[in-house]
Amino acid sequence: MFSTSRLKSKLPHVGTTIFTKMSRLAEEQQAINLAQGFPEFHCSPELQKLADKYIRSGKNQYAPMAGVMSLREAISKKTWEASGHEYHPETEITITSGATEALYVAVSTIVHPGDEIIVFEPAYDSYVPAIELNGGVPVFVTLDPQYESVNWAAVASAITERTVAIMINTPHNPTGNVWTETDMRQLAALAEQHNLYVISDEVYEHIVFDGRRHISAASIPALAERTFLCGSFGKTFHTTGWKLGYCLAPAALTAEFRKIHQFLVFSVVTPFQFAVAEYLNEPAHYLTLSAFYQQKRDLFLNAIEGIGFISKPSQGTFFQNVSYENLSDENDVTLAERLTKEAKVASIPVSAFYANPAGYQTLRFCFAKSDETILSAAEKLRKVVW
Ligand code: PMP
Ligand code: GLN
Repeated sequence: MFSTSRLKSKLPHVGTTIFTKMSRLAEEQQAINLAQGFPEFHCSPELQKLADKYIRSGKNQYAPMAGVMSLREAISKKTWEASGHEYHPETEITITSGATEALYVAVSTIVHPGDEIIVFEPAYDSYVPAIELNGGVPVFVTLDPQYESVNWAAVASAITERTVAIMINTPHNPTGNVWTETDMRQLAALAEQHNLYVISDEVYEHIVFDGRRHISAASIPALAERTFLCGSFGKTFHTTGWKLGYCLAPAALTAEFRKIHQFLVFSVVTPFQFAVAEYLNEPAHYLTLSAFYQQKRDLFLNAIEGIGFISKPSQGTFFQNVSYENLSDENDVTLAERLTKEAKVASIPVSAFYANPAGYQTLRFCFAKSDETILSAAEKLRKVVW
């Protein structure tokens, strides 16, 4: 009989993700799920038709390892138009199973045991396990969830001779902050000075508010030459379930990246790659997204006004953080559970994005929902007894 006593966890501190936990609780409680970040709406009928067309026309076998060429070409064109940097479809663009795979493979490509990677907290939950599974050591620079700007002096002092990379995310989940050009130039200066790689998670690149511009690592040459830029169509086209993402990186970095990608998944879902490639021909399909979500952010903020939350309007992403420090002393995990059970509205406790939760009393709400859902959730939150 096999004894599980020999089973030694590679991720002893990791349990089920907070997204799964809160979605499960929301379902159990029949609560409105503003927790896990996914759009409530369908992807466009045109994109559905394209997917259907390519499934029916037989594009159902393995795609090339690096991805369908028409999709790589479309990404190259789109990135060039947005950033002025040209990634070569043959050697610098790889289609991945969501940004999650791109991020994992990027980390795996560069991290050797004992290497340090600088991670900003609050951090998306896949970063640290990816680093640890590869024998790396995350070094945290902690940011207040309502922060205004990055403390670059703290970043500089976190760099040691073991540091190989800095991992960034703009627009940022969960704070909704968008890095400025000054931030990106500070990053470039430090990365150049210490010869570091950058892993740039830009999955919310098309969701920025109030006239801001997303400053991609691709747009700054000193960053582009050292960056693994990870993107996803899940957020952009309301297709999180398609798990279609990509990694853009200079040819030498991409060659090493692909060595791992080919043995992790080999290639990713073929008909959807063709469909997205064709859909990308019309830039309005992604350039209208910021206005669409800005209206949702404003609707949510207006609807929760007067409850007593403190909230700095999100600058990008489809998340709004709110501080409840004026309303309750409860910790955020307890409160998120209570609100799911009593108010029937699920949210994410922001402490889940910290290795060492610092006691910020902040919840994250996802507003990628219909207007009715947003208004109904706000109505329920209004009735909470604090
Ligand atoms: N990075 C961030 C910041 C995210 O919020 C997400 C998903 N919500 C991902 C990466 C993963 O993207 P994908 O679903 O394409 O794997
Ligand atoms: N990225 C989504 C969020 O932040 C969740 C994705 C997941 O469930 N892994 O809510």
